[in-house]
This record gives sequence, C-alpha cells and structure tokens, in this order.
Amino acid sequence: MERIIMAHGSGGRLSHQLIKDVFQKHLGNEFLDQMNDATYIKGREKLAMTTDSFVVSPLFFRGGDIGKLAVCGTVNDLAVSGAKPLYLSLGVILEEGFPLSELEKIVLSIKETALQAGVQVVCGDTKVVERGSADKVFINTTGIGVVEDKRVGPSYIKPGDNILINGTIGDHGISILADREGLEFETPITSDCAPLNHLIEEFYHPGVRCMRDPTRGGIGTTLNELAQQAQVSILLEEEKLPLHPSVAGACGMLGLDPIYLANEGKVLVVVSPENTEEVLSLMKSHPLGKNAAIIGKVMAEEPGRVLLETPLGGKRIVGMLEGEHLPRIC
Ligand code: MG
Repeated sequence: MERIIMAHGSGGRLSHQLIKDVFQKHLGNEFLDQMNDATYIKGREKLAMTTDSFVVSPLFFRGGDIGKLAVCGTVNDLAVSGAKPLYLSLGVILEEGFPLSELEKIVLSIKETALQAGVQVVCGDTKVVERGSADKVFINTTGIGVVEDKRVGPSYIKPGDNILINGTIGDHGISILADREGLEFETPITSDCAPLNHLIEEFYHPGVRCMRDPTRGGIGTTLNELAQQAQVSILLEEEKLPLHPSVAGACGMLGLDPIYLANEGKVLVVVSPENTEEVLSLMKSHPLGKNAAIIGKVMAEEPGRVLLETPLGGKRIVGMLEGEHLPRIC
C-alpha cells in the first residue's frame, strides 16, 4: 500500500506528482488547471485567489514567525501572479495547552505584516484539537487580489529573456535549520521572510514576462516548473547566484545545495533582454532588492531543462528537488 511520505510535502518532484495524480486528476477544472501561484477567477473585476498552509517548526525563528510567514506566503503568491493583494482569510488550528501569550505574539505579528503589505484579514476560523493531535499551531491563509494590467505568466516567456532574482538565495532554509540545530554563524543570518508586493510595484515594467516566488524546493524546483510550462530551457550561471556568506558556509559544511533551499522573500523575474537593465536597477533601488542580480537566461534548445554552468564552464542538469531534506520549513 502506498502511503504519504515526507517528500510529498517537500515542494519538489513528489509534491508535484501528488498534486497531478490525486488532486488535479479528480478536481481539475479551468481554474485549478492554471497551475500558477494564484488562480485568476471570474468577477466584475479580474480577481486572483490563492491558499497556503503553514506548519513551520520552530514557530518563532530568526527573522520571523509562523504569523509573519502566513501573511507573506499568501501575499507573495498573489503579487507574483500580477495581482494586488487585498484580503486574507485566517484559519488557525491550535493544540490544547498552547500558551495564549504565544498565540497573541503570533497574532500581533500577523497584524504588523498585514499592515506592512496593505492587506486585511477579513474572515477566520479557529479549531482546537486534543494535546498530541497537532503540533502547537498550524495556520492556513487564503488570499484574494485584484488583477491589474500586468500580463505575466509562463506563456509569455521567450528564448533570449533574462532571469533575475531580488537577492540572496536560501536564507530562509538556513535560518530555520540554524534555529533547529542551534548553529551560530560569524555573519548572522535571518530569514528573508517579507511581503514582496511593494517591491514588485517598484520594478514592474511591461517587459516583465513572468514572476514566481521560489519557496519550498528553492529556485531549482521553481525554474524547472517554468521551463516545463513555457517549453523552454533555462541556463543558470552558478557564480552569479547571490549567496549570503553564512549560507555558502553552511551548505559547504552540511552538503546542501543552495538552489534547493527555501526562500520566503525572493522573486524570480523573467524579463525581456531590452528591459533587463532598467528592471534590475529599479529592483536594486528598493531595500528588498539591493542584492538583485541577473542569474541566467532563457534558451530555446532542450525545452523543459534547467542547466547550471559552473565557474569552470562545465554544465550540469538541475532537476526538481528529490526527497525532503528540511521538513516543515514553512
Ligand atoms: Mg509560490
């Protein structure tokens, strides 16, 4: 009998397979089949909707907590889909015995992050389960936004486009790991967890073809999704990937690949060659984009593939994340 394993929740290859073979197979429709970070739905205005559940452990980590994450994750999925995030729902599952003071800290963090992102929590639900039936707190948020005139999505990607990112990769993954394992670094590191909607407003230009937030599964998995959906290949340049020194150090020490580490405040942007410099400099002018870089380009040959060019000029194929290295990262 096949059973669920941790890798089904990794955001990598097995997560994709589970979604396709179980959820999409039985529930697929014109909306769900869009398979984007947020789905465009019908209304008097064009709307986008998304949902996400948060099971991060520990609840409080360097650079954030489950409340901040629950707002950012959903806001970012709307923002990268070209929508202006407006409303959130908040579903909370609490384990019996959880301290009220910690719940209040989480709620205050939700308040502060929602204010920063310019969204409102407009409905919610709370359930309590017996001690041992859940681990402290799980949160689900659903978000609704208005789609303005941004035309973004994998179908707009063309060979010759450049791939940009707004800063260092893997900061969230390594911060969570460091908190779990009690690691300390010479250069302190915090999660990059942040709402990206204002940054995106800052750099958006009609030359932007597609945006994705590389959360679970890292940029490696997200770029594979894009290469497959757009039927193009992507060539990444290893030495151009922005890396915080502590992430580089931790990856070397622990044998982790930063391209598969989770991010919670990063956006991958595919831009037409003519507009790349302009978008890059707009990105860099915002605090959340100061370490932005061009990390690769879109190619026509071998559609569906992601390749990484090493500093010595060798190339290797980058697949989706296999297995689950860091469970409960978000
Ligand atoms: Mg996403």
